[in-house]
Amino acid sequence: MSKLQSPKSRCEAFRVVKASIRFGSLIVLTAYCLLLTAYGQVPSPKSVLGFNPTDDKTIADWRQITDYFAKLDKASDRVTVKEIGKTTNGNPLIVAYISSKDNIKKLDKYRQISAKLADPRTIKDDAELADLVKNGKTIVSISCSIHSTEIVASQMSMNLAYQLASGNDVDTKEILDNTILLLIPSSNPDGIEIVANWYRKTLGTKSEGTSPPELYHHYAGHDDNRDWFMLNLAETQAITKLFWQQWFPQLVYDVHQQGQNASRFIIPPFFDPVNPRIPPSILREVGLIGYKMAADLQAKNIAGVATNSTYDTWWHGGFRSAPYYHNSIGILSEAASANLMSPVTVKKEDLARNRNTRGLANLLEPATNYPDTWNGGLWRPADINEIEMTASRALLSMAAKYRPRYLRQFYDYGKANLAAKAGEPQAFIVTAGQPNAGTVSRFLEILMGQGIEVYQMTHELHVKMDPKQTDFHEMPLGSFLILVNQPEKNNVLSLFEKQEYPHRLLANGDAEVPYDVAGWTLPLQMGVDYAPAWQISDLDKQRSTLKRVENIDQARAVMNLPVQATPFAKQPNPLKTNSRIGLYKGFTGSMDEGWTRFVLDTFQIPFRSVSDKDMRSGNLDLDVIILPADSENSIVKGLNAERYPEEYAGGIGEAGVENLKKYVAGGGKLICFDDSCAMVIKQFNLPVKIFFPGLKRTNF
Ligand SMILES: [Zn+2]
Repeated sequence: MSKLQSPKSRCEAFRVVKASIRFGSLIVLTAYCLLLTAYGQVPSPKSVLGFNPTDDKTIADWRQITDYFAKLDKASDRVTVKEIGKTTNGNPLIVAYISSKDNIKKLDKYRQISAKLADPRTIKDDAELADLVKNGKTIVSISCSIHSTEIVASQMSMNLAYQLASGNDVDTKEILDNTILLLIPSSNPDGIEIVANWYRKTLGTKSEGTSPPELYHHYAGHDDNRDWFMLNLAETQAITKLFWQQWFPQLVYDVHQQGQNASRFIIPPFFDPVNPRIPPSILREVGLIGYKMAADLQAKNIAGVATNSTYDTWWHGGFRSAPYYHNSIGILSEAASANLMSPVTVKKEDLARNRNTRGLANLLEPATNYPDTWNGGLWRPADINEIEMTASRALLSMAAKYRPRYLRQFYDYGKANLAAKAGEPQAFIVTAGQPNAGTVSRFLEILMGQGIEVYQMTHELHVKMDPKQTDFHEMPLGSFLILVNQPEKNNVLSLFEKQEYPHRLLANGDAEVPYDVAGWTLPLQMGVDYAPAWQISDLDKQRSTLKRVENIDQARAVMNLPVQATPFAKQPNPLKTNSRIGLYKGFTGSMDEGWTRFVLDTFQIPFRSVSDKDMRSGNLDLDVIILPADSENSIVKGLNAERYPEEYAGGIGEAGVENLKKYVAGGGKLICFDDSCAMVIKQFNLPVKIFFPGLKRTNF
């Protein structure tokens, strides 16, 4: 596939001519070039980086990407770049606002229009609504490479920004006039650093194109895209604030990559099951964007594009699924990967063997949701770039052409949520007097972080906690109230209700495995007591006695907790002992290790990491060792020395297993999570049987 055609910058064009002209003119031309550079010529990525992003074996790290965007901001009146927070490792997290020159000058005006449309209660009448729809812009977000080994989108973001900043064709102008793009070059910049460093270090070695030997998010690794309902991570917190407290994008597009032996690209409509809390109209809009992308890709004869496959709309907490509960249209795309930035050759036989894709029985046979098969061959980062650029342009083009429709619909979704519906409670109550006040306060902080309205009482309310209950019970002061009929109704219901994953069986009788998490009821996950309020006595009259909780310290004051130093501040250490705690950390990147470290850090519990080398040499002078969830193979054998340098390969080895046995025999405590139990049960010869291995899904 052809690479992005980036027009040569004017200075480069002049250099071609300059050989044929006299020396005197050359000086004038050079001076002119310098002037252009100083006064607003839009720099191409190549002029800044020295290469075209997504060319084979090139990679821009986070410093280079932010440097390019800073230069674009300086040179183009269509681009303004803002830092929206710091990442977990302290890197700048940035968003590039891209729109027409006139729109960029009035960004805050358009932000306010979007915020008003998000809350219909702030709009006084039809005339005001008509005015907002007429004058607003479609707010679109495109976010790249949250999964950092899915690296191409982060590089593509510079090509997309340059094309929008420099293009003067009719389509680009239509996009710029009608939309404001919030382009997030990466929602996990720390991972871009980790991957770029590893890729460069291993280029030309046996390890070229492998995943780095560590988690690509300090705590969460790949799970950094499972945090959008719980906001544990600095990145999720910052982007959630940008989206659901400030800009309220109508369209959110998160750009991912899948495996190599797969379809070339998966876009919506998605696969089943569907979550009943997503309005059907939003699902239709998601599908419409997907089909526009598919049609534009087909017009370019790009083969291997699948819809209605693999990814479902059940789960709540992904980057593109959380927006459904905020009345927005969330889009995910998954391009087939190369080996990081190195091209790969995909064999037809390997594609033929892939028979496990939901919605795609056979990658080599055309189907309604996969009409043009891709039969193997060379696959390069530039191919991924072209697909993702085409999809991004398709999305932006829809956002521009149907601007009033998207804005009006966005308002309508919020408006519908304000009305009571049969079978829904009036509110959820977080009851007063719970022992774990710190956790309750974090829970409320998470809700408010997502833009959910939380209220405190100034007078006692009387409530029926059960729809069948006949009399009202007094609810004590100090309880918190989350009313269901607010613009974010579906978010409230989805976070408080218990999910029941539909009973789905495959043709052979096996239970179908959900793509992602099947249940996420937030108060249950956090151990917070709550109850639905099916009826509040005289709610309309009592409404004026409710006080909106504006920030977390107001909530903490109600619970007599100390003020927090920062948002989502660390919690006090709950342990009363000074045990020396060790947490095993191998090179295979265990997400469970990362999350365990996150818990220890959040609650300020001192610990040290225990390496493969510590295990092998018996450096285990500890009271407690935690083995996070990982397979026996991963812990004992670790990374393969055929692909990884010696220092990262080999796991804890047999020596490590023997040293662990000695440690336990000597009175040390060993705590195993999930999968790591299997390793210990087997290697320690424990008289314990694990029930699940060998159990068929039909019997489960
Ligand atoms: Zn991904």
